[in-house]
Amino acid sequence: MFETAIAGSLPKPSWLAETEKLWPEWKSSGAELERAKADATLLWLKVQEDAGIDVVGDGEQSRQHFVHGFLAKVEGIDFEHKVKMGIRDNRYDAMVPQVVGPLRLSGRVHATEARLARAHTGKRLKFTLPGPMTIVDTVADRYYGSGKEGRIRMAHAFAELLNEEARALAADGVDIIQFDEPAFNVYMADAAEWGVGALERAAEGLTCKTAVHICYGYGIKANVDWKQGLGDEWRQYEQVFPALARSRIDQVSLECYHSHVPAELMRLLDGKDVMVGVIDVASDVIETPEQVAATIATALRHVPAARLFPCTNCGLAPMRREVAEAKLAALAQGAALARSRHGG
Ligand code: ZN
Repeated sequence: MFETAIAGSLPKPSWLAETEKLWPEWKSSGAELERAKADATLLWLKVQEDAGIDVVGDGEQSRQHFVHGFLAKVEGIDFEHKVKMGIRDNRYDAMVPQVVGPLRLSGRVHATEARLARAHTGKRLKFTLPGPMTIVDTVADRYYGSGKEGRIRMAHAFAELLNEEARALAADGVDIIQFDEPAFNVYMADAAEWGVGALERAAEGLTCKTAVHICYGYGIKANVDWKQGLGDEWRQYEQVFPALARSRIDQVSLECYHSHVPAELMRLLDGKDVMVGVIDVASDVIETPEQVAATIATALRHVPAARLFPCTNCGLAPMRREVAEAKLAALAQGAALARSRHGG
C-alpha cells in the first residue's frame, strides 16, 4: 500500500555532467563517460533503495535530456543543423534537431543502463521514455509535412520506434515503462484527439506495466512563470484524463502537491493506478513527512488506496543533489506515515 516511486530523472553528480542544468554538458567522453554514467546509475539506485523508495529507476543518468537521449539513436534526424524553436506552445525556446527523412532506430537506445540497473536491484524497476507527442513538440520537421496531419504521421512514426525499444526494455527485465508526455498538458484537445492514440501505439503489446507521466514541467523559471498565469484552478488534466481512462495504459503520474490541480480530477482516472505527485520539484524546501502524508490523505478521497502510488511531481534533474536526496527520504517517510494512519 502507498508504494513510492519517482517520476524519472535525478540530478547528475558533478563528476558526470554540469549540475543544476536541464541540458548539461558531459564532463568526459568515450569510455570514461560510459563508466561515469554507469557509476552514477549505481549510486542513485543505492540512494533510492536506502531512502526506502519502492519502485526505482536509473535516474536518467545516461541521457543528456529526456527527449534527446532517445533521439540520439534515431536515423532520419539531422543533429548537425539544429534550429531554434519555441516548444510547449512557445513557453520556451530550444535548439532542436530536424527530422529530414524516414525514421528508423540504428540500434538499442537504453540497453546498457537498463540491464545494469536490473542486475543491481531487486526492487521493481521503472524505465522512462519520452512520449510520441512530446517528441514531436521537441523536434523540427522537414519531412512529414506541416499541419496536424503531418504531426500525427510523425508521432506515429516515433511511436513505432518507441514501441521497438520498449519491448526490448521489457525483455531486459524492466517492470514498468513510463512515457513522459508533458505536451499533453499544453495541447489538451490534440492530446485527447490523437496524442493518447499515438501513446497507445508506443505501448502496444507490452507485457510489463505501462505508465504515462503528465506534469507542469521541471522547476525551471520558464515553467514557474507559466504556472503563475494558469489561474487558481488548473483544469488541463480534465480534458485528457477521460481519454487516458479509456486507454490501455495502466498508470498515470500527475502533479499534485503545491499545484492548483483540483484533487477531484483524479476521479477521472477511475480504473487506473495513480502516481500522485507529493513532492514539489520547483522548491528546495524539503517536505515534511506530515506534509507528504497530508497530500496522500487528500488524494485518498478520490483514489482507492490500492491504486495510489506517492511519487514526485516531476523529475528532480535540475535540483541540487543533496536536496533531491532529502526529498526522496521525505517521500518514503511520508508514505510510511500515511500507511500507519490508513492501515496497511
Ligand atoms: Zn514531468
